[in-house]
Amino acid sequence: MNMEIRKTEERDLPAVLAIYRHARTFMREHGNPRQWGDKWPPEALIREDIRRGKSYVCEADGRVEATFFYDEGENVEPAYSVIDGSFTGPARYGVVHRIAASENGHGAGSFCVNWAVSQCGNLRIDTHPDNLVMQNMLQKNGFRYCGIVHIPEDDDPRYAYEKVVRCGERYYLKNERLTRYHDEEWGKPEHDEQKLYEMFVLELFQAGVSWELLLRKRENFRSAFDNFDAEKIAAYGPEKIDALMQDPGIIRNRRKIEAAIGNARVVLKLREEFGSFSNYLWHFTENRSIPERMDAVTDQLSDDVSKDMKKRGIRFAGSVTVFSFLQAVGILYCHDPECLCFHRDHAETFAQNHYQPENRVSGGRNDR
Ligand SMILES: [Zn+2]
Repeated sequence: MNMEIRKTEERDLPAVLAIYRHARTFMREHGNPRQWGDKWPPEALIREDIRRGKSYVCEADGRVEATFFYDEGENVEPAYSVIDGSFTGPARYGVVHRIAASENGHGAGSFCVNWAVSQCGNLRIDTHPDNLVMQNMLQKNGFRYCGIVHIPEDDDPRYAYEKVVRCGERYYLKNERLTRYHDEEWGKPEHDEQKLYEMFVLELFQAGVSWELLLRKRENFRSAFDNFDAEKIAAYGPEKIDALMQDPGIIRNRRKIEAAIGNARVVLKLREEFGSFSNYLWHFTENRSIPERMDAVTDQLSDDVSKDMKKRGIRFAGSVTVFSFLQAVGILYCHDPECLCFHRDHAETFAQNHYQPENRVSGGRNDR
């Protein structure tokens, strides 16, 4: 059967109402008389869903066989803000409500929820404790039971489920801290001057230690290094270096500390030349995020940036370190297309971006 999802139109209303009538009968006959009773969802609500562009139908061989509500966004379902249990995905998620299939719509429910997962990578859904059919369908499709929520429509509890799709299980998802880092920071195209500089300093200290260790020590680094203020760091003298060498909260490596100070001085020069460190970094790709394989180690871009950084006197700027930094700040874009971050970043628009070294204007604005 050839199935596809599209937005519900006015002309679909009779078919949609028939599906809901069938679903209520089915639920009543299968031990679940209370979830939708004999009138939920009301026609006015369905019309409202259609008007807002949030109602969808599943067409199988050209016939409407299933329907549902889908929306996505930051905390998009207020009823899920209180849960007896816990969701594990980030606060930006998709939600499906009012899903129902016709008598002939075998497999259409699964098709609909999988379509919704493919839109957001982080889907939440609830169902009635008596709705065993739905619970089985969700479990079969890899959803995880999260706890009990309450909805405004009635007093019965609802079982909440989620399906969260993330890339990089091997690299970033070993524990909660790394998972949060993946969800909130890693690979997100970053233009904030301060954030870019902070990541740049941390990346320098990362050589030879685990990223997780660095994340654990990040707060210590912030206080030890004046909240990553490049001007202050550039002015550090021997006394400050000695003090940092005594600080057990950071990574005490004299070569790295000295390199961080020297690099801060170069960053100040880059800000002068390019207007900002961000401008300098992004000018290599003409402000575009370039798709790259997650498991690559270096590429042409990291080679070129590394070469340019070394020429300017930046230390610990080998291509592997630079590659890892460019990945972290989303100049090289490595989230999988299925990953929830990919949807957040609308990364499908990056597909046509390529690194073109020959198009790059070398040097900054002072070159002209
Ligand atoms: Zn990812």
